[in-house]
Amino acid sequence: MALRQRARRLEPGNGSAMNAGSAAGSGPRRSLQRKLAVATAVSGLCTAVLAALVIAGSYGDFAAARQNLYDISAYRNVLDAANTLSAERGPANSVLGEPPSPGSAARERLQAFRARSDAALARLSAPPSVPVGLHSHHLPPLMVERVRERLARARAEIDELAARTPQQRDMDEIRHAIESMFEAVDALQPAIAWQVRELSVCDDGLAAPALTGKMLGDLREYAGRMASQIMAPVAARQPMPVQSLVDATRSRGRLLELWHLAGPAYNLYGATPALEQAYADAGHQFFGRGMAMVDSLVAQGRISGNYSMTPTELTNRYVPTLEPLERLRSVFLDEVVAHFTSTRERALHRLAAACGASALILAILGYMLVFARRAVFLPLLRARAEVIALAEDRGLANDDATSASAARAGRTGQAAEMRRLFDAIEILRRKLRERAALTAQLEQQARTDSLTGLLNRRALELVSARYGAHESASLVLIDVDRFKQINDRHGHPAGDQVLRNIATQMRALVPAEGVLARFGGEEFALWLPHGRPGEAAALAETLRAAIASRPVYLSGTTQLAVTASFGVAVGHGGAGNWQRLFGAADAAMYRAKAEGRNCVREAQDLEGMPGR
Ligand code: GH3
Ligand code: MG
Ligand code: MG
Repeated sequence: MALRQRARRLEPGNGSAMNAGSAAGSGPRRSLQRKLAVATAVSGLCTAVLAALVIAGSYGDFAAARQNLYDISAYRNVLDAANTLSAERGPANSVLGEPPSPGSAARERLQAFRARSDAALARLSAPPSVPVGLHSHHLPPLMVERVRERLARARAEIDELAARTPQQRDMDEIRHAIESMFEAVDALQPAIAWQVRELSVCDDGLAAPALTGKMLGDLREYAGRMASQIMAPVAARQPMPVQSLVDATRSRGRLLELWHLAGPAYNLYGATPALEQAYADAGHQFFGRGMAMVDSLVAQGRISGNYSMTPTELTNRYVPTLEPLERLRSVFLDEVVAHFTSTRERALHRLAAACGASALILAILGYMLVFARRAVFLPLLRARAEVIALAEDRGLANDDATSASAARAGRTGQAAEMRRLFDAIEILRRKLRERAALTAQLEQQARTDSLTGLLNRRALELVSARYGAHESASLVLIDVDRFKQINDRHGHPAGDQVLRNIATQMRALVPAEGVLARFGGEEFALWLPHGRPGEAAALAETLRAAIASRPVYLSGTTQLAVTASFGVAVGHGGAGNWQRLFGAADAAMYRAKAEGRNCVREAQDLEGMPGR
C-alpha cells in the first residue's frame, strides 16, 4: 500500500545507522586483534629469549663440566703413567741386588712392570678419541718420545749391569743406572707441567686438583727414590758415599715438604672414609716405618757399610710402606674424577630442567594466549558487536528458534562467564523484540479507529502531511445523514453497526491508492493522491449511491435506509495545505447537507477558504 511504502520511506533511516555500526565494529576489532597479535609475538619472543639465555647458560655449565671431566681423566692417565714408571724401579733394584739369573722371579716381575710402563706410554702417545663437542689437550708427541728414549737408556744400563755377577757391578755404575731411571720419570715432568698449565688455563677450578694430584704423585715418587738412592751402596755392601747421603737427605726433606703441603689437601672435595684411611696409613706406615727404615740404613752406611738388610729385603719391607702413599694418590684422583662426574651430572640435570621448564612455560604461554583469544577476546568482540547492533536497532531479526539455538550451540564450548554474558544479551534481545512489537502495536492502535478498523483522523492528516506541497491531492468528506435519529430510535449499538456497515461498503469501493479514514463521530474522509476533480467526485457519487442503495439490517428484521452527504475538494498535499483542503471539502459537504442531503457537492474554489 502506498501509505505503508510512504510511511516506511519516511521512518528514521535504518540503513545509515547499520553502516555506521558495521564500520564502528570492524575498526576496534582489527586494532584490538592487532594489539593482541603484537603483544603475543612480543611476549613469546621475550620468553623465548629468556629461555634461550637460561638454556645457553645451563648448556655452557654442562659443556664445561663435561670438558673438565674429560680433561681431568686425561690428566690422570699422565699421572698414572708417571706412577707406573716409578713402580718399575722396585723390580729393577731387586734385579741389581741379585746374581744374574734370566728366569728368576725378580726378572719376571721386572718384565711385567716394564710391559705396564710401555703400555702406559703408548696410551699417552696414542691419538685420543675425543667425544663430540670436546677438545683434547693431547701431549706433544715429542715429550712422550723423550721419556721413551730416557727409559730405554736406563733399561739398557740396568740390563747390562744385571748380566754381570754382583762382584763385577761397580757401585757407581749401579747408582748411575738407578739415576737413569729417575731421569726417565723426570722426563715426564714437563708433560705433567704442560698439562697442569693447559688445564688451569681452560678452567681455574682444575688447577687445585691437578696440582694436588701431582704433589701426591711426587710423594710416591720421592719416597721410592729415597730408597733407590741408597740402594747402590746397600747392594755393594759398601759405606754410603757422600753423593748417596746428599741425594737421600734431599729426597727426605722434599718428602716432608710435600707431605705438609699436599697431605692436608687430600680432602679437597670433602673427606671420604677411603681417603681418611689412606692419609692415616701414609702418615703411620711410610712416615713412621718406611722413612725410619731408610734412616737406619743411612746411619749404618755412614758408620760401616754393614747393612742389616739386602737390597731385596729392603725392597720387600720398604715397598709395602709406599702402598698407602699410592693409595692416597689413587683414591684422591678417584675422588676428583667422581667430583667432576657428579658436577657434570648436576649440570646435565639443570640443563634438562631448564629445557623442560622453558618448554613448559612457552607451552603454557601459548595455550593461555590461544585460550584468551578464543575464550575471552573473540567472544567479547562478538558480544560488543551484538550489543552495538541491538543499540542501533539491528540484531533483532534473528528471532526464529533455529538461529537462536544455533547461537546457543556455538556458545556451548565457552567459559561459564561468557555464556552468562551471551545469555544476558539474548535476554536483552528478547526484551527489545517484545518492546518493538508492543510499540508497533501501539502505533497501529494510535493510527486506527477501533470501531471500523479504518485509519483515524490523525493518521489521515499524517498521510496528507507526508505528501509534498507540489503534489496534487483530493479530499472527500462524508457525513451520515440524520444519524442522531438512528441513535435515538434504535440505540447506540445500532448506530455503531451502521457506522461499521458504511465503512465496510466504502472500503470495498475505494481504489488501492485511496486512503479511507473515520474522521470522527459519523463522519468519514477519503483522501486521494491526485487532483482530478471529476474523478474524485465520480468516486464520491459511487460511494453515495452504494450507501443509499443498501439498507442496514438490524437484529434480523429491522431494515434501515441510510444515506450520507459528500463534500469533494481538490488541492495539494503537505501539512501546510491540509486546513485549506479540509475547509473546502467541509464547506462542500455542508452545502450538500443544505441542499437536501444524500448528494455530492464539489468545492467551487479554494480561494478565500480558511487556511489559505
Ligand atoms: P445531519 O444530517 O445534519 O448530519 O444530522 P445528524 O443527526 O447526523 O448530526 P448530528 O451531528 O446532530 O448528530 C451526530 C450524532 O452522532 C451525535 C452523536 O451522538 C452520534 N455519534 C457520534 N459518534 C458516535 C458513535 O461512535 N456511535 C454512535 N452510535 N453514535 C455516535
Ligand atoms: Mg456530523
Ligand atoms: Mg450527520
